[in-house]
Amino acid sequence: MTGIVGAARLVLIQVITEKNGIGIMEQDSEVIIEGGCLCRSLRYSITAMPFDADHCHCSLCQKSTGAVVASWMDFRIEQVNWLSSSTPKEYASSETTRRGFCPNCGTSISFRDIGHPQYYTLSIASLDDPNLVAPQYHIHTSNQLRWLNIKDNAPRYTSSRS
Ligand SMILES: [Zn+2]
Ligand SMILES: [Zn+2]
Repeated sequence: MTGIVGAARLVLIQVITEKNGIGIMEQDSEVIIEGGCLCRSLRYSITAMPFDADHCHCSLCQKSTGAVVASWMDFRIEQVNWLSSSTPKEYASSETTRRGFCPNCGTSISFRDIGHPQYYTLSIASLDDPNLVAPQYHIHTSNQLRWLNIKDNAPRYTSSRS
């Protein structure tokens, strides 16, 4: 852990506090947040806070992550830097979507739509400190598991948001 990262975390905590802990933070060029996969073969750093973050309850996210809900955060592609020599292996879950995972440990770590190459999505759970990013809404709630009760006040969309 370098001093730079520690300082960046301090900046983040201040911004989160100002927005009651739920806001998507404004971009800050000093921000460096880090994360990676379970076995640490994949490591990344990000130079901005995400411009969006959500919980997705769709069946594809459930299957591919092995979790009943997937929480994602969105960046511009140039803000994400892979620190490791390896990058995620990608599975084409549709003609346009690519789901990235670690070929060694299987961690579900990334998502991108080749129709929107300027954006890159990472799993919030892959952050070293997932508390830094709070999802703002739920999508595909028509597929949310009946026994999963999430008592937040975030907006809910039965399918995609758009
Ligand atoms: Zn791994
Ligand atoms: Zn999904």
